[in-house]
Order: sequence, then C-alpha cells, then structure tokens
Amino acid sequence: MEQIVLKVPSGKIYIKDGRCPNNCSLINKDKLLSGKPVVTALVRLKGDTGTMHFNAYYGIFEYETDLDPQEGDVVDLYCPHCGTALSVPEQCTMCHVHMFAIHLPDGGEIRACPKVGCRNHQLTIVDLDAQFAEFYNEERRPKM
Ligand SMILES: [Zn+2]
Ligand SMILES: [Zn+2]
Repeated sequence: MEQIVLKVPSGKIYIKDGRCPNNCSLINKDKLLSGKPVVTALVRLKGDTGTMHFNAYYGIFEYETDLDPQEGDVVDLYCPHCGTALSVPEQCTMCHVHMFAIHLPDGGEIRACPKVGCRNHQLTIVDLDAQFAEFYNEERRPKM
C-alpha cells in the first residue's frame, strides 16, 4: 500500500470513533473537552488504577485523570469496558516504551507514546474519504 505523509494541524481532526482491539468504543459522551466527547481509558500508574480522559482532537495533548502522573511517568492504558491493554509491540522511537493504539473505523489507527510529556504520535489512515469527511465539511462550510 502506498503511504502519503500528511501534515495535520493540531486540533483539526476530531476522533469521532475510536476503539479497543476488541471493538469496544472508547468515546465517552459523559465527559467533554473542547466541547466534544473524550476518549476514555483505564490507566495504571505505579500500582494505582484510575481513569484518563483524552481530548479527542488529534494533536491536542490535553487530558484529565484522577491519578497524578508526573513528567516522565509511563502510564499503562486499558479499555474501560473489557480491560484489554491498548499497548502495541511498536516502541516509541524516543522513549523506547511500548506505544498504545486506538483503532479507527475502516482500519486506521492512532498510535501514541504513553510517557507523560512525550508527544510522539502518529495517525494512520486507510480510508481517506471516511476519515476526512468531517474535516473537509468543516473546512468548506461557508462562514455565516
Ligand atoms: Zn474493550
Ligand atoms: Zn515517547
């Protein structure tokens, strides 16, 4: 498959649908960041278990959690529904810890580093039309 590298401005793509490896939805409508439902995962850090809510705009590194992660801590993320680990074999090229993945519809994926403060992440898009439908709509909508 051919790969195209896109430069995506932060906050321009909203993750409407993100799933664990068992296909549970990680989108949580009970909690909003930037006015949109968040991506919620279970988090383990130094023996404590909590919840982590991520801003679902790609490239916005905002989260809320009931734990207290410090810069440099590595969190373990799990599906809040089935408990499956979200980590993948691929390691962050900067921190050498396992990345975690959020599966998108149509085979795409977001991978990010679970180390607090590291901003290494990537977006893989398989079906461009589906993934960018909302992006284009917003860009092309005439300003009222
Ligand atoms: Zn699950
Ligand atoms: Zn990293």
